[in-house]
Amino acid sequence: MNIQDVFNNESLYSKKEFKLFVLEGDKYNYDEDAAKEMFKYIGIKNNKIVTLCNKCNKEFPFDIDKRLIGFFDDMNHTTSYMSVTRNFSNAPGGRIDIKNGHIWGGMPPYPKAFLNEYGKWYIEYQLTCTNDSSHRYFMVISIEQRLGTFIVKKIGQDPSMLSVHDFDFEKYKEQLTKINAYEDYKKADLSNAEHFYVGAYAYLRRIFEKMLNNYIKENNITLKDDHVETKIKAVKDCFDSRIKDLLKNLYSILSKSIHELNEEQSKEYYQYLKAIIDIQLEFEYTENEKNKQSKQLNSILNKIVNEIK
Ligand SMILES: [Zn+2]
Repeated sequence: MNIQDVFNNESLYSKKEFKLFVLEGDKYNYDEDAAKEMFKYIGIKNNKIVTLCNKCNKEFPFDIDKRLIGFFDDMNHTTSYMSVTRNFSNAPGGRIDIKNGHIWGGMPPYPKAFLNEYGKWYIEYQLTCTNDSSHRYFMVISIEQRLGTFIVKKIGQDPSMLSVHDFDFEKYKEQLTKINAYEDYKKADLSNAEHFYVGAYAYLRRIFEKMLNNYIKENNITLKDDHVETKIKAVKDCFDSRIKDLLKNLYSILSKSIHELNEEQSKEYYQYLKAIIDIQLEFEYTENEKNKQSKQLNSILNKIVNEIK
């Protein structure tokens, strides 16, 4: 994971832990690789990410401008450090160089009592679209030290992930509005972004049920009972052929197992379930576009035929 994933995919307040110091016996050993991984995650060396610009409606590289808060600079301001221990009697405390993960000052392994129990740092990222410098994004993360463990959280983002991806909502608006599911579609993603998975799954289920009911109505189908399984069987062929055999499983996951899933699973599975809904929306969207085009072509051809008569 790197800073681009953090911006594009991490939801607010989700935690990522890095174990920089590991207790062995009564001393803390330093894991420089874990530190490097953490600095990669927070993009210390990155000055660009690629993301969807919601004003250009297209992906562009964004320049990153960082502001470090709570760090300690050396005299020449060539690098910044995180102080992680108290001062030793005859030497300054240990501090991590964020440029390369090296430690300066008091050297590890550290006796238990010397490692700081708690510390907190913040980084602000100002992101500027390289296609138009008036398009700006903003993100803030915090790094919290709890003895050897460092917890990184995205604590702020503007515009929200939701409006960064707003483009997708707009794309399927016509299809969703037709079945009265546009709000459900937005709320599914909003709930997911806020870790309210029961809600997110319920909204997806509602969209799916509305899709089924709409196809039943459009095709004047009479059902022998009201079970969802019966409905799926009846309108299966209205779905994109690549997903029509997945529908039964989609519904059973959406309706049953959410309470049995842990947070990580809920988060991961949500993307797959939503992808199935999106494939169908994309299918309807393209069908719709093709219908419009062929109608246009039809009237153009009629006109030409009339002209050459
Ligand atoms: Zn832009």
